[in-house]
Amino acid sequence: MSYVDTCLHDVDTAHPRVAGLVGNGALYALVPGKGFLAHREAGDVIHTYVVLHRPAEWFDGIDFTDVPAAKARVAAEFDGWAPELRALITDGDSAPVLRSIHELPDDHRWSRVPGVTLLGDAAHATVPGGDGANLAMLDGAELGEALAAYPDDTEKALAAYESRMFPRSHKAAAAAHRTVDLVFGADAPAGVIGLFSQERGASA
Ligand SMILES: Cc1cc2nc3c(=O)[nH]c(=O)nc-3n(C[C@H](O)[C@H](O)[C@H](O)COP(=O)(O)OP(=O)(O)OC[C@H]3O[C@@H](n4cnc5c(N)ncnc54)[C@H](O)[C@@H]3O)c2cc1C
Repeated sequence: MSYVDTCLHDVDTAHPRVAGLVGNGALYALVPGKGFLAHREAGDVIHTYVVLHRPAEWFDGIDFTDVPAAKARVAAEFDGWAPELRALITDGDSAPVLRSIHELPDDHRWSRVPGVTLLGDAAHATVPGGDGANLAMLDGAELGEALAAYPDDTEKALAAYESRMFPRSHKAAAAAHRTVDLVFGADAPAGVIGLFSQERGASA
C-alpha cells in the first residue's frame, strides 16, 4: 500500500466544488484497495492522500518528477469516478509525492544495544493505524520514567523501557493491520461506515 500526497490551495475561491465536497472536516471515498482520504487544513488548504494498493514496482513505473504525467497516471486509476474527486489529483497545485508504507513484522524487536534505543515511529514500523502519535508519546513518557527510576544505570533503564514497549508495539501493529483492513479491505467502504454508525449509536 502507498499514498500519493497532494494539496489544493485557495480551495474556497479556486475550487469551490471540491471545497464543498470535502467540507470542513475530512472526506473518505473508498473502494477495496483504493480511494481518497482528504481533509481540510488551516489556511484554505485541502490535503489529500490517494491510497493505492499496488506493488512498489507499479509505482516505480511512474516518474513523479514529470508532474502532469504522474497526475494523469494516478487519476487514471479513478476513471469514471466523480470529477470533484478526480480533481483532488488533477487540480492539485503541489507536485504529487509518493509516500510508500514500509513495515516490519508485528513482533519486531531487537537485542539491546548499549546506550541506544528507539521510540515512536522509529520503533513501530507498521501500517498507519492512526495511533502512532499516541504510541510515540507513551514511549517517551515511559522511557522518561525508566530513566528516572534508574538514574545511575542507563542500561537497566533502557531494558526496562523496552520490556514494556515491545509487547505494546506488537499489539499496536496487529491492531493497525485490523484498522487498515477495516478501512481499505475487501468490504470497503462498509468498514468505515460501520465504524461511524457504531460511534453515532454509542453517543446517541
Ligand atoms: C497524515 C497522517 C495522519 C496521522 N494521523 C494520526 C492520528 O490521527 N493519530 C495518531 O496517533 N497518529 C497519527 N499519525 C502518526 C503520527 O503523526 C506519528 O506516529 C508520530 O508523529 C510519530 O512521532 P515521532 O516523534 O516518532 O516521529 P515524527 O513526528 O516523524 O518526528 C521525527 C522528527 O525527527 C526529525 N528528523 C528526522 N531526521 C532527522 C535528522 N537526521 N536529524 C534531526 N532531526 C531529524 C523530523 O524532521 C521530525 O521532526 C498520522 C501521520 C500522518 C502522516
